[in-house]
Parts: sequence; C-alpha cells; structure tokens
Amino acid sequence: MKLIAGLGNIGSAYVNTRHNAGFMAINYILKTFNISLDKYNFDCNFNIVNINNQKAIFLEPTTLMNLSGNCISQVIKFFKINPMDLIIIQDDLDLDIGTIALNYHCITCDDLRTFYSKGNLSCVFVNKNLISIDAVLSCTCGSTVEGWFLVECQNDITSNNPKVRILKHSEKLSDTVAHKGTVYGEYEELLEKAETAFREGLGAGSIIYLRKVFESVTIHTARTLSINPNKDNGKPRPFKDVLEEVDGRVHIIPDEFSENGYQLFGELSNVIHRDTEENVGLQKYEPLHRLVIGILENVRNKEEFKAAIRALGWSEE
Ligand SMILES: [Zn+2]
Repeated sequence: MKLIAGLGNIGSAYVNTRHNAGFMAINYILKTFNISLDKYNFDCNFNIVNINNQKAIFLEPTTLMNLSGNCISQVIKFFKINPMDLIIIQDDLDLDIGTIALNYHCITCDDLRTFYSKGNLSCVFVNKNLISIDAVLSCTCGSTVEGWFLVECQNDITSNNPKVRILKHSEKLSDTVAHKGTVYGEYEELLEKAETAFREGLGAGSIIYLRKVFESVTIHTARTLSINPNKDNGKPRPFKDVLEEVDGRVHIIPDEFSENGYQLFGELSNVIHRDTEENVGLQKYEPLHRLVIGILENVRNKEEFKAAIRALGWSEE
C-alpha cells in the first residue's frame, strides 16, 4: 500500500502560495479521481482508496508543516507502510525562486539528475500575458541542456499568485544528456510527444500518439501470448478483436475503465479511432492518458510478461 502525503500549511494566509504546493498536488490528484479526504485521525485528513488495483492512502496533515513528520510516522506505524512506498509532495525548499529545475538522464553521470539553471533568467515580455524565457540547465558534472519556454499568465503576472502555464517548450540536449524516461522503453518518446502536443493545445495530435502506444503495446502483448494479431491472409485483424482476446486472457485494461460495462473505455476507443477534433482531443486527453499508462503498468506488473519486458528494454523498478 502506497502512502501519498501532501504537505502544506492550514489557513487562508497560505492558500495558493508555494508552501502549499503539496496540498495543491494532492487536491489535483483527488479531483482527477473524484475522491475526497473525508476521514480525520492521526492529525490529518485522509482517505484510503483503490486506484488501478493499487491501494493507497492520501493524506494532508492538519498540523503546521514542520510538525507533519509526527502525523506521517503515526500513519506509517498504524498501517505498517513500507518506507519505500511513502511519497511526500512538498515545495522544493532548496529551489530558489527564479531557478528552473528539470530531470534528465545524464550520460556522463550514468544516472537521473536534476539540471538547474544558474544565475538570472533571460526573460522577454512578449506582451502583458506572455513571457519568453531562455535558460541553460546544467548537471553538476557540466552536461547541459538549452531550454526555451513560452509562459502564459492568465492573470496579473505581478500578483502574489500568478496562474501560469507553459505554452511552448523546446530544448536542445547536449551529447551527454538523454530524456529521463526509461520505464516504458520505446513508448516513452511517444508519451513525451503526446504530452508536448497536449501542452501546445493540439488535441488531435496528442491523441494520435496515445493511440500509437495503445495499439502497439496491445499487439506486442498479443504476440507474447501467441495470439495472432493478423488474419489468415496476413492482414491485420480488427484492433478491437485483438484487444478483447488479450484482455480476456490477462486483463490489461485497468479496472477504472472496465467497470460500467466498458462504457468509458468504449467512449475513449471511439475518440481514439476516429478523426478527433482538437477540443474533443483536449477534453479526453487526461482519461486516455490514464488508460494508456494503466495498460502499460498492468503489462509491466504481470509475471507472464517479465521476459518480454526485458526484451523491450523496460526498466523493472
Ligand atoms: Zn552529470
């Protein structure tokens, strides 16, 4: 069982400040899954939920932030949580305002590293809502990534809590840097492309990448189970038939989507297999992304696929 704790400070003075980043992250996740923290004990608001067959406790301590350790240790003891299953979300106290930090795989260090920008950022106001930022992010060993970010602000950028999002983002990785994801091997790049397209407001484009992952992981799984994805004449079988046969054998579609007689799943499949309009794509991106990640996770966690997964080069953490 996972324990996911979001840290922050109770009280109106802290709402929407960076000190409450942990609360904001937890609330965002809870909203996505339509869950509320309706229980109170151990000095925290909490709930025990089931997501994709995984039990998890979400909590927000009600004590001051510097006392949240007491609350979390009570919960760990009571529910006998393995420390490896504890995830704490809080603002990064070591990160100064005005510093950009992103994770990459540093080839020189042969590990995942956080790359930081140094000194003042070079910012250009495009207009009163748009800022263009150039930055060089570096690893402690000297490997660098050149990044460009176009940041959009919905309200007054000089206010205490500007509502911003990254509208566009490009980066140039030096030879000693690679993208961080290795968990899903070849699918990481497609997932990254889907995410970029979504961020740029390209609904249809983002869906196309998710579909590619969805289809190829299903076909790959079929082959692993010796299910032929093609007809006798060598032409591909309808994708839906292959998926049903695979799911009937090993259950790869997450429970969240197979409840209600596959209704949500059917709806998403329709979106994924039709010409998608931009706004529909943007609306459906999050549930579809969850579906695709759920399938990847299910495949990754099935014993019968371990050998195939090693062959695909997925990491087994
Ligand atoms: Zn490095």
